[in-house]
Amino acid sequence: MGTSLDGKVALVTGASSGIGKEVALSLSRQGALVVAGARRADRLAELEAVAPGRIRAVSLDVTDRSSVQAAVDVAVSEFGSLDLLVNNAGVMLVGPVLGADTEDWARMIATNLMGSMHMIHAALPHLLASKGTVIQTSSTSGRIASAGSSAYAATKFGVNAFVEALRKEVTTQGVRVVVIEPGFTASELTSHIPDPRTRAMADQMASSMRTLQPEDIAGAVIFAATQPHHVSVSEILVRPTDQEQ
Ligand code: NDP
Repeated sequence: MGTSLDGKVALVTGASSGIGKEVALSLSRQGALVVAGARRADRLAELEAVAPGRIRAVSLDVTDRSSVQAAVDVAVSEFGSLDLLVNNAGVMLVGPVLGADTEDWARMIATNLMGSMHMIHAALPHLLASKGTVIQTSSTSGRIASAGSSAYAATKFGVNAFVEALRKEVTTQGVRVVVIEPGFTASELTSHIPDPRTRAMADQMASSMRTLQPEDIAGAVIFAATQPHHVSVSEILVRPTDQEQ
């Protein structure tokens, strides 16, 4: 029998849009108590308002360690435990190495890599206590490095390495570690690409295929999270059928 999410406490980062928002909604639909974190409070307030179950918005900047700790503390103090961390916040400021604004690299490393690591660091004592689950949003860029996505791929390869080492440290203590690697998914992620040529290429790629929808990735999260506790789904790579790479 699968694990029910009813009454489980989940913390979802990057819940104000795209994949994280759909994950928060899906978990809430399954009866989980969801702490939804991101920087844009207005978007989170809208999410709280449409939640099918209990969603508690929390202001979270994963690049700020005190904010990370505060979000974990909200989950534990208000709901009594932490069963599931969905480490999803990320930015994709891609473009060629030549002429890149290295501040974009620093932001991606601080958000996608260090942000994920700090979230896990703060959540882990509670996940060990609850025999909980970490679900890490990585990317196909965590497996395949493509021209134009060097620093982004470095953060996703990095986070894959971090959580694989974590898995080896905690799996026999009952904490499950899951990596989800989405392919091209319709969201606002590409709209933040600073380089106009790279942004246009991403838009062109999106219009050339049937992309995934955030719901498709939320489905993968629910699949992994509802397996019986002795089943640890270590890795899920989900690509659009039309995506070759
Ligand atoms: P979105 O841009 O829609 O979502 C990104 C989320 O991350 C937002 O909720 C944003 O919220 C949040 N975020 C960004 N920076 C921070 C921060 N410093 N602190 C807290 N939250 C932050 O894109 P997606 O839903 O597509 O992306 C979600 C994840 O999926 C990312 O990790 C991305 O790399 C990954 N992914 C996406 C793919 C795609 O094709 N869309 C493919 C593969 C992986 P706010 O700005 O309000 O803080």
